[in-house]
Amino acid sequence: MSALLVVEDVVKRFGGVAAVDGVSFTLDAGQVLGLIGPNGSGKTTLLGVLAGTHDPTSGKVTLDGRTASGRGAHRAVSAGIARTFQTTRLFGTWTLREALRLAHGERRGRPGWPDEQIANLLGLGDALDRPGASLTSAAQRLAMIALALATGPRVLLLDEPAVGMDGTEAAALAAAVRRAAGELGVAVVVVDHNMQFLMPLADTVLVMAAGAVLASGTPAQIRSDEAVIASYLGE
Ligand code: ADP
Repeated sequence: MSALLVVEDVVKRFGGVAAVDGVSFTLDAGQVLGLIGPNGSGKTTLLGVLAGTHDPTSGKVTLDGRTASGRGAHRAVSAGIARTFQTTRLFGTWTLREALRLAHGERRGRPGWPDEQIANLLGLGDALDRPGASLTSAAQRLAMIALALATGPRVLLLDEPAVGMDGTEAAALAAAVRRAAGELGVAVVVVDHNMQFLMPLADTVLVMAAGAVLASGTPAQIRSDEAVIASYLGE
C-alpha cells in the first residue's frame, strides 16, 4: 500500500537561497512526523509548501496519488491538508460549537467527524458551549486544532503548537494530537523546538539542516545519531 502523503525532492528557492533543498519523505495515515532543525533550516518553508502557501521551485507533494502542491493554497486545501498557526486567533464571543460549525463549511465534500468527537478527542468536551475568550490559552490552542480538524483534513500541519505551554499542558497537547491521529487516521506534521514535547509524540523525526534532510528515523534513532547531536541536539 502506498503512503498517504508523498513528498518528492521538494526544492523551494527565494532568489539565490534554497530554503528547502531537495526534501523527500512519506507519511501514512495516523502517523505523526516531527520536524526539527536549527533556525533557518527550512522547516517553516517546508510547512508552507505542504500547506500550499509556497509553490515548490521543483519537486512535488502528492496526497493519495493526487498532486497537492502548486497553484497556491487551493490545491492543498482541496486535497485535505489543514494548517494551524502559532498564533491563537480568538473566536471571542463565539462558542467553540459555533466556530466548529463554520469550519465544517470548509470541508468541501470531504467526510468529517461530529463536533463532540473532535472536542472529546482534544479534551474540550466541556468547552463546546463556552465562548472562545473564556478558555485558557492552552485550551484556545487546542481549540484551533479542533477547528482545523473540523475541515475534515487527511493531513494536519502544526507549527510550534506547544510554544508557551508548561510541561503539563504540552503533555496534554501531545496526548490529544496522538488521539486525533490514531482515532481519525489523520497524518500529522509537527514543527516544535520543545524536544520533551515532540520526541514522545512523533513516530518519525525528520531533522533538517540548511534546507536538506540531515537525518530521519524513530525518536530513539535520532537521539543517538551523532551527526544530529553534533549539529543540533547538542547545542
Ligand atoms: P526555519 O523555519 O527552520 O527557521 P525558514 O524556513 O524560516 O527556516 O527559513 C529557511 C531559509 O529561507 C532562511 O535562510 C530564511 O532566511 C529563508 N527564507 C524564508 N522565507 C523567505 C522569504 N519569504 N524570502 C526570502 N528568504 C526566505
